[in-house]
Amino acid sequence: MTTLPQGSFLSRQDGQLLLEGCDLAGLARTHQTPLFVYSKAAMLQALAAYQRGFAGRSALVCYAMKANSTLAVLQVFAQAGCGFDIVSGGELDRALAAGATPSNIIFSGVGKTRAEMTKALQVGIGCFNVESQAELDVLNGVAVSLGLRAPVSIRVNPNVDAKTHPYISTGLKGNKFGIAHEDVLATYQHAAAQPGLAVKGIDCHIGSQITDTGPYLDAMDRVLDLVAAIEAAGIPLHHIDFGGGLGIDYQGDQPPAADGLWAQLLAKLDARGYGQRQLVIEPGRSLVGNAGVCLTEVLYLKPGEHKNFCIVDAAMNDLPRPAMYEAYHRIEPLQPRSGMAAQTYDVVGPVCESGDWLGRDRELAVAPGDLLAVMSAGAYCMSMASNYNTRGRAAEVLIDNGQARLIRHRESTADQLRLELPLNAKP
Ligand SMILES: *Cc1c(COP(=O)(O)O)cnc(C)c1O
Repeated sequence: MTTLPQGSFLSRQDGQLLLEGCDLAGLARTHQTPLFVYSKAAMLQALAAYQRGFAGRSALVCYAMKANSTLAVLQVFAQAGCGFDIVSGGELDRALAAGATPSNIIFSGVGKTRAEMTKALQVGIGCFNVESQAELDVLNGVAVSLGLRAPVSIRVNPNVDAKTHPYISTGLKGNKFGIAHEDVLATYQHAAAQPGLAVKGIDCHIGSQITDTGPYLDAMDRVLDLVAAIEAAGIPLHHIDFGGGLGIDYQGDQPPAADGLWAQLLAKLDARGYGQRQLVIEPGRSLVGNAGVCLTEVLYLKPGEHKNFCIVDAAMNDLPRPAMYEAYHRIEPLQPRSGMAAQTYDVVGPVCESGDWLGRDRELAVAPGDLLAVMSAGAYCMSMASNYNTRGRAAEVLIDNGQARLIRHRESTADQLRLELPLNAKP
């Protein structure tokens, strides 16, 4: 048996896999599979590492809710005092429904629409993280027409290599995010001259699943150089937002602990005289990724000449990261079998795509009907789930103080058909 992911609150008792002490096999029987199960204690422990790192500082943790935007998960973070980093009007609605304080919401993303800007201005969000000059001008126009001033920060592209998967690296020249280093000062001068904009801060986000401190330290140096230049031009910056991106243990990865990373970053801030500035961070994956597992049942074993397949009832529509990024998730039986030889399987789902796999070349001793846990499934799994193949999205359970509670019903076909207008419907 391999080791369990760090920070996951998973354990084994007589072989049986438990999450925060709760028997996962029992939950799978009660709620069927595929089923996501999350540990609230794991989320709060991950958050506490950031909070320890920021003790004595002015800092706001804005949970990047695209990682997992289920209402009850958002409530956990809202009740723990977090703000939210949103990327759409839908996420704004969800954050407000979860009880978020509007002034602790920041709005990121390259493609905000006028309607999204209007709603966010009307509820009074804390800051728009603007990603282009064109967006700045549209936001200015929307704010002026409402008689408001939009709080803005400009997302700068520090051009550092986060050394992560190309699809989740965002801080290099040549990707769509942020404003190039050399254009930043002129963009700030333009923003400061607009009647509908109030410059508040600066932000960057260099990528995701980062497991080294180096890229963060480099990005911070580059951002602080820009802060100095912008303030020398007479534009004060109230906050500095370093984005998210800290990695988690998927496969023995050893990312720095959040408090240790921030000790290094704060030392640099202090050395450069910015230690008392308000800090904002936008962690997503590192708060929820290892708080969740996806439970799935083995349907069939299909031996082959070149490969053996273990066909399970969870698929790429439930857990898209392997298909999308060739991501690795540990997969283990809930109750290991003794006295059965392990075989090497590709663990695949029922969807009609060759890309529908959850794990490759896994050593498993399993039989049909066995239950498996796909680990590290708290981030970018359920929030990326789709209805491909008219599969209903999975149910979700939150373990709260050792008590399991259902936080999302399994989606039915009727739920999916509700928005569709058949040809015999009255228009
Ligand atoms: C996705 C995203 C985050 C969160 O990234 P994680 O890797 O999940 O921590 C933060 N900020 C922005 C702008 C993002 O797009």
